[in-house]
Amino acid sequence: MDWTIAAGLDRMVDARHADSFAVELWHHPKAQLLVVSERGHVALRAPGKLTFTRPTGEYRPESDVFVGEWQGSPIFVRVVADDAAIAAAFQASCPVKITGLRPVLDAFDDEVQVAFVAAAIGRWSGMAKFCSRCGTALTPACGGNMRKCGNCRLEHFPRTDPAIIVAVTDADDRILLGRQPVWEPKRMSVLAGYVEAGESAEQAVHRELAEEVGLHGLTDVRYFASQPWPFPRSLMLAYTAHCPHPDQLAPDTAEIETARWFTRADFTAAVESNELLQPSKHSVAYRLIHTWLKR
Ligand SMILES: [Zn+2]
Repeated sequence: MDWTIAAGLDRMVDARHADSFAVELWHHPKAQLLVVSERGHVALRAPGKLTFTRPTGEYRPESDVFVGEWQGSPIFVRVVADDAAIAAAFQASCPVKITGLRPVLDAFDDEVQVAFVAAAIGRWSGMAKFCSRCGTALTPACGGNMRKCGNCRLEHFPRTDPAIIVAVTDADDRILLGRQPVWEPKRMSVLAGYVEAGESAEQAVHRELAEEVGLHGLTDVRYFASQPWPFPRSLMLAYTAHCPHPDQLAPDTAEIETARWFTRADFTAAVESNELLQPSKHSVAYRLIHTWLKR
């Protein structure tokens, strides 16, 4: 999935402000419905294939969100509480696998962008039921893409948390890869972390590398690309950077179980021998690593 070109999903942002818009599209002959849980779980009809169904009954603004037009079909997401509620939405004759997206990402093609929107909307819906300022229950608007507080008038939109991810290389053009203790065995990747309040993304790159692996004085911190990462609601801002002092490497083992410098030959051998699992092919981490590998 190339996240740097125009999206295949047309969100129709201007049109969705009209009150009647979502209702009309709900009854469109090509409309399709995805069911997603408040944890971002979806139903798959086959590996990498979302289960779309025809919308039936009346449009329910409290749970049905219009997310855009995909391949000529208006797409709605119905947000339900949990896996059991997803299962209940399907007939017994329609076998589906209900899962979070992260373990099954690599089976997807470009439909992953629809899956990411669905997961993001599902998680936001579960966490945005009440006004964060006054506690009043919120009312959906704009086809479910925003919520309004009827008491203090505050408008609530799906949130995205910025995070940085960075491919650090040294004078010998080795790349730094590490792993978090919570990851599956053998998984390694470039390092990442959230941007703090009042901080620039570049400042976060310097801070995270210092905190997590003891590397100070990075140079040539350059923007690379971005991608959505709805686990739970990140926007990954990818950078490259140069480390003039690779011998400073000292992982903070509470956050980073291990970290080391890889030459291209090291990396290729580790992947081929199955000692190292790469990030998902749909992740910007994969693109960072493979851009380094090819240059
Ligand atoms: Zn309020």
